[in-house]
This record gives sequence, C-alpha cells and structure tokens, in this order.
Amino acid sequence: TPYTASEQRYEAMKYNRCGNSGLKLPAISLGLWHNFGGVDSYERGRAMVRRAFDLGITHFDLANNYGPPPGSAEEMFGAMMKDDLTPYRDEMIISTKAGYLMWPGPYGDFGSKKYLVSSLDQSLKRMKLDYVDIFYHHRPDPNTPLEETMSALDLIVRQGKALYVGISNYKPEEARQAIRILKSLGTPCLIHQPSYSMMNRWVEDGLLDVLEEEGVGSIVFSPLFKGILTDRYLDGIPADSRAAGQSVFLKREDITEEVIGKVRKLNDLAQERGQKLSQMALAWVLRGGRVTSALIGASKVSQIEDAAGAVNNLEFSAEELARIDAILNA
Ligand code: NDP
Repeated sequence: TPYTASEQRYEAMKYNRCGNSGLKLPAISLGLWHNFGGVDSYERGRAMVRRAFDLGITHFDLANNYGPPPGSAEEMFGAMMKDDLTPYRDEMIISTKAGYLMWPGPYGDFGSKKYLVSSLDQSLKRMKLDYVDIFYHHRPDPNTPLEETMSALDLIVRQGKALYVGISNYKPEEARQAIRILKSLGTPCLIHQPSYSMMNRWVEDGLLDVLEEEGVGSIVFSPLFKGILTDRYLDGIPADSRAAGQSVFLKREDITEEVIGKVRKLNDLAQERGQKLSQMALAWVLRGGRVTSALIGASKVSQIEDAAGAVNNLEFSAEELARIDAILNA
C-alpha cells in the first residue's frame, strides 16, 4: 500500500537543539542496527519506519556495516526511501558511519581518508541518497592521525556528501581533540554518539562535560541496555527476543537473576510514575537536558509506540532519581 505520512506527525514529539548548532533532533531516534538486515522481513522493517515517522521520529541512524550481512540495512532503508519516503526527504535526518570492518584489505576499516570517503560513497548508493545529514567516524583509530580522520570528515562536508559530521565511541580527551581539530578546519562537530543507559553510565565521568563545554550535542545508543531495561525479560527469555537470538552483544547469560532483580524494582517505580519501564529508561537518559536524543532499536511497531510515549513524562523528582540510584547501586 502507498504511504502518506500522518498529518499529526509533529503534534506529540519533542525536538531538542543539537549542541550549539541550528539542527533540532527528535528526543527519540530510531536505529537500524538490528532487525533491518538482509535476514529480516522488509515489510516488518517498513512498518516500523513508517510508524516512527508518523510519530515524529524524524531521525534514522544507520552505519555501513549494519545488517547482517554488512550493508544490507542501508539497502533495506534505500528500498524504503524509494517506496515510501522520498517525498519526505527534507523532513528527515539520516545518518551513517564508517569505522568498523566493512571490506577486506587495508582500506575497509578504521579511520583513513581513503576508507571514510570510499565507504560513504558506497553508503549513498545503497541508500539511494545524494547526501546524508550526519556522517560519523564510528570509533577512534589509534593508528591514523586524528588530523587525517577529521580532515576526511571536513572534505566530505565540502563535497556535499554530508551536511554535518559526528564522532562515536570517542573517550572524553580524544573527543575534545577531535572537536577542536574540526573547529579549526571550519566544519564544527555536530554530535557525539556514545552508549548510555541506567546500566552503563560511563559518559557521566567526563564525556558529557566535554560536550557541554564545546557546544556539541549527543545521541545515546542502547538507552534500553539492548532490551534489558524494559519488561521484555521479566518472565524469562522470549523466543523472539534479542537475548534468545544470534546477537553476540546480548546473550542469554547476560539476563542474570541479579540484573532482573534490579529491573523488577525499576519496573515498579516506572509503574508508580504511570509509564512503562522502557519509557522511564528513555526519560532518564534525557533528564536535565544534557542528552539531545535517545537512540533506540526495535523489533516491533509497539516498541516504537512505547518509545514515542516516553515524551509524555520526562520529569523526575529528586527523590525518584535517588531511588533509581539506590536500586542500581544495591
Ligand atoms: P536499545 O537499548 O534501545 O535496545 C533495543 C532493543 O530493546 C529492541 O531491539 C528490542 O529488543 C528491545 N525493546 C525496545 N523497545 C522495547 C519495548 N518497548 N519493550 C520491550 N522491549 C523493547 O538499543 P540498541 O542496542 O538496539 O541500539 C539502538 C541503536 O543505536 C542501533 O540501532 C544503532 O543505530 C545505534 N548503535 C550505535 C552503536 C555505535 O557504536 N555507535 C552501537 C550500538 C548501537 P528485542 O529484539 O528483544 O525485541
């Protein structure tokens, strides 16, 4: 069936300015790391992306290697652009990345100018796009001068292949250096993409301070801790869940009694607040306005609806925050 976007799509979502830039991002963004590969159903992926856009989720996050197989998530997204989304291109923020292994030989991994420029050219073809909105260096490369990697990002913007650039998985001091080099080149760093959730708080130890000082925004990945900070695993490990599947990033062994004990207490608190645990987990990473967007993954349309609903209650009392800390630190 042909797609026409909902006329109500901008009524509920919140949009936050990304650092000191002119760009606003939705408080909730959708990532296509899992469930949009060549092994997954096109119609299911398509239904999720349509619903997300109808709920005001204007930002879709990809990377060269998302799949499996690598590249197939961009191909699936390209098919959605062609089938549904081309009329809405100017209402969308689409990102991709390079930095992890993508093709064999010395030029398909890490952070050389050769790799980044070639990889983005491939990504644009797969997604059927003239440009991406944000292009990221996906992880730091210890063996390439930071100046080379940052000048590749600057070049890509000057070539018109990306409007903005970002970095991902950079630690506080290397992030600060990258941000300063980009500034000196005249292409400011728009955004940093780190992991962050109630169960993974490393960004509180310096990174968020650096970003605030430098005027750079942030979009945090795995805010649901890959599904653990939801009601997914309260009664065991469902057969269709990520922990039951092939993911090497979330395994059955990660769903321990200790973890689920904490999740149960967090779930009770979320219910007292009148929201689902997944919604409280998203509100929590956005608390205080330091994070621009929470970047979720999803395997079902209902999960996207849950996430969008998080914006109905983003406030925490000091007492609630203290209770969360006590549960997490117990
Ligand atoms: P999340 O922590 O949001 O985990 C998403 C998973 O949680 C879903 O696939 C689903 O798992 C489960 N889930 C989501 N919503 C609900 C709900 N309402 N109720 C119950 N379960 C729910 O993030 P991801 O780990 O998926 O990462 C999100 C995105 O971040 C990626 O797609 C990617 O774009 C980006 N990312 C970037 C990285 C980087 O290095 N820059 C690394 C990792 C991710 P299930 O399949 O079990 O249903």
